[in-house]
Amino acid sequence: MLIVMDQLATAAEIDAVVGAIEARGYTARPIPGGQRVAIGVLHNHGAVDASMFLGLEGVKEVIPVTRPFKLVSREFQVEDTVVRVGDAEIGNGHLTIIAGPCAIESDEQALTIARHVQKAGAQLFRGGAFKPRTSPYAFQGMGEEGLRILAHVREETGMPVVTEAMDHEVFDLVEAYADVIQIGARNMQNFSLLRRAGRAGKPILLKRGLSATIEEWLMAAEYIMEGGNTQVILCERGVRTFAHHSRNTLDLSAIPVVQKESHLPIIADPSHAAGRRSQVIPLSRAAVAVGAQGLMVEVHHAPETALSDGAQSLYPDQFHELCRQAHAIHGMFSPYRDHAADIQRSA
Ligand code: PEP
Ligand code: MN
Repeated sequence: MLIVMDQLATAAEIDAVVGAIEARGYTARPIPGGQRVAIGVLHNHGAVDASMFLGLEGVKEVIPVTRPFKLVSREFQVEDTVVRVGDAEIGNGHLTIIAGPCAIESDEQALTIARHVQKAGAQLFRGGAFKPRTSPYAFQGMGEEGLRILAHVREETGMPVVTEAMDHEVFDLVEAYADVIQIGARNMQNFSLLRRAGRAGKPILLKRGLSATIEEWLMAAEYIMEGGNTQVILCERGVRTFAHHSRNTLDLSAIPVVQKESHLPIIADPSHAAGRRSQVIPLSRAAVAVGAQGLMVEVHHAPETALSDGAQSLYPDQFHELCRQAHAIHGMFSPYRDHAADIQRSA
């Protein structure tokens, strides 16, 4: 339930409503808006009786929340969330491009790729130091040394860095080095890790699970927001289907659906969806055309030698072309985007 306060409601009236919610054993979450404050009611098991709040001073209306997710929903917050990292503002109408290798392999490899992708227009650098691999015999990442290399890349290029925290054991370490902490597809429903991410002081990039529904994905984001971290970026990276022509199937329709249901920014990762280089540029074009607010792309200067995901990694010149095409498409559609969001909200 959402209690919407009058535009002229005083701080004391807002406090009184918060007190009334808490007196009933629920959690009150004030959400400041441009015009007025709304107060979310959380941790209620079952319906809340609206009439007990309607009579309180300063209350304008009480809106039942129909979705199982609350803090992430458009019902709770109409305005888009903007996640700010360095100079990048994800979710405010720009197209943010994140690029880099699947895994950090050496200082030289990371810096070489970082310089290429920065020149092509990437704003954030990505690279895994702790890698979730299907086989225990495959390269598992460089660990803390990889994080140190990421910090070096940031120092040299000024680009903020995105890297995955695979488990609790390494979360503190990753949080200390990263500018954005990635929760990977395999961990999307690792609820204790999501709770830890909710206490993090850095933005979280939450990938969609391998076979997660949109509702399950948004509930995972709810765990993070419920813990107090409002800086969440959703990332569609393809889901498992019967198809073999690609590694996963990029669920393009998830992008407008998520934008209708949630105020959180959503980006696309065409690399892990495709699994092969030849599909990455076309899928990037499509993702931008359906409204993705950013792309995360794997790039390697010598993909044939890459220790992971070489087959889907773009050569630097291909990435350059991807950026050019993606920005051209974004430029065509961005004037319509606000209007589209209004339509989505009312639909
Ligand atoms: C990655 O980004 O390198 C990765 C492992 O992604 P995902 O969790 O989507 O498979
Ligand atoms: Mn990868």
